[in-house]
This record gives sequence, structure tokens and C-alpha cells, in this order.
Amino acid sequence: MSFLQEVEAKFNAAKESEDLISFNTTEVEKECDKIKFLITLVPGLSQKKNEEKEKNKDKENSNPFLNPNPKLFVKELDQHNLLLNKFSVVPNHLLITTKEFHKQSDPLLPNDIYEAFKIIQNFGSVPSLAFYNCGSESGASQGHKHLQVIPLKNEGAQPPIKALFDLIGDRQIGQIYALNRLPFVHVIIPLDHNTIQTKANTKETLTDYLAETFFGLLDAMIQQLRENDSPMTMSYNFLLTQDFMMLVPRLKEVATIEHEGKKYDFSLNSLAIAGLMLCKSDEELKALEAQDNLVDILTQVTVPLNPVAERLKAERSQAEEADLA
Ligand code: AMP
Repeated sequence: MSFLQEVEAKFNAAKESEDLISFNTTEVEKECDKIKFLITLVPGLSQKKNEEKEKNKDKENSNPFLNPNPKLFVKELDQHNLLLNKFSVVPNHLLITTKEFHKQSDPLLPNDIYEAFKIIQNFGSVPSLAFYNCGSESGASQGHKHLQVIPLKNEGAQPPIKALFDLIGDRQIGQIYALNRLPFVHVIIPLDHNTIQTKANTKETLTDYLAETFFGLLDAMIQQLRENDSPMTMSYNFLLTQDFMMLVPRLKEVATIEHEGKKYDFSLNSLAIAGLMLCKSDEELKALEAQDNLVDILTQVTVPLNPVAERLKAERSQAEEADLA
């Protein structure tokens, strides 16, 4: 049985026993700045979440990840549990939760990234996206540390943001990039398939490679924040696929848009950064579809690039090039 089949069997059983709620969805694509955003309408989501909140109201310190429901339990990892997401918008959505309580505002550690990457590898030819919503402004809804992995629907499918990564000409391994069309602070790095296959083929060496890559990226993000004269923020979104790692610092959780005189709030997490937007009503969908550019919504909650800092940076690098000539 493949890993996906194993997960699917658990998913179907949990759905059957009503331990898991799988929502009906409608999907609409909207292309903005070369990103084909996928907007998923989930009418059942708001109602179900409210019901669940009511149920949990009386349970003090209710934490669904500390003693997970066995029907949602997929397997035990070294320091994590692999669970099914109880509220499933994407079938077979997995959560990698720490066995012991750690805060969702805690930074990613090498073993967290290793487990997420292993799940991506276990999905094999089915492309998947791992992510971590770190900190209070990142869009996380649970306070217990958890990473997440979603399989992407079709073979060959990629998160919409990957289209911008593919536009980086002459990509170099080990080089950290910014994507031209995104007007907010972010950093992205290609993963080295050769290193992963050859040098990083044991748990220890793979963990080392992923950790080294991640900490390099984190340093670059902090440097970008400094160069952009931005307030430091401990909230960020982390995206990981077979091909790249990406970090986006966050200043706000909620973006607000206006449509026909009405305001709509959207709590955005890593999936929105990846180009996967969620909405709960036809009205919200219409409001999103009517926006000129969905990238602007992401800019609201991230750290917009400061044009003065950008100009100074360009002048500095021109001066450095002139010195070298
Ligand atoms: P986030 O909202 O990014 O913090 O992700 C937490 C995920 O956990 C959400 O997608 C919820 O649907 C999911 N979730 C909430 N309660 C439970 C539960 N009891 N068991 C499993 N997953 C849950």
C-alpha cells in the first residue's frame, strides 16, 4: 500500500465514522501577475467551525493535538504525531503535531522540517505542499505547534506561486532569490535534488541539509527586513515543496477588501501566500473575484517593500559592481 493509499484509507474511515468533516467545495481560478490564484469556496466552513467552537467552549484549555482522536491518527513519528485535519477542505490534509506541547509561535526546528520533507517524499509522484504558520499574525488557528502538508490534486500540480519561481532565469543551487512580481518582503531558495539524492540520504544528513538551507533563508529574511527598515516580526509563513523553501514575514493576520460598499475580512495563512485562497460565501467569492489584483491582498498582511530602501539597495549594488569593474 502506498503512503497516499494508507492516508486515504484513514481519511475515508474517519469520514465514514463522522470523526472528520469533508466539505463540499467550488473552485474558481483568477490570474493576477502570472499567478493563477485558486479561490476555493467552502460554504460549510463557517457553520461547522462555529458549532465546534460552541462544543469546546466549556472545555478548559481544550487542545485537540495533545490527546488526538485515534480516528484521526495516521502514525507516530519520532517527536511528532501525524494526524488528519478534522475539517477537511483538501482531502488527505495532514498535520504534523509535536507530541509534547510547544507553542505555534516557536520557530521551526530541524526535526520539524525533516518530518515535513519526509511526508512530501512519501507522497512520491503526487506533488504536495508543506507549510508552517508561525506566530500570532501568521493565520494559525491552533496554539499547539503543528506543520501541515496537503497533497495537490493532479499529478504535476503545483501551488500557484510556483509559476513565479519557474520564471527565475538561470536558477543557481544555494542562491536565495526574491520573486520580481511580489511587492513585499520574501525569500525563496531552490532545493538541490542531487544533494538530497546522494549526500542527504540518511536522516541525519538530510536533516542537516534542510536545516542549513532553512537557517540561511531565515538570515536572509531578517536581513531583508532590516534593509527595508521594517519593524521586526516573529510571525512568518513557511512554504516547502520538493523544489523550494520560501519564507514570508507577516505583520497582520487579516486582510480587508471592499466590494459594492461592503467590507470583507480574510484571515490569511501560508496557503494564501501560495496562491490558494479560501472563502466561505458567494458574497466573499464575488468580492475576491472583483479585485483588480489578489497580490494586493497579500501585500496588506506582509511587509510591503519600502521604495526608498529598495532604491538605496539598487544604488549600493550598482556602486559595488562599479568598484569591482
Ligand atoms: P491552522 O488553522 O493553520 O492553525 O491549522 C490547524 C488545523 O487544525 C485547521 O485546519 C483545523 O481545521 C484543524 N483542526 C482543528 N481542530 C482539530 C481537531 N480536533 N483534530 C484535527 N484537526 C483539527
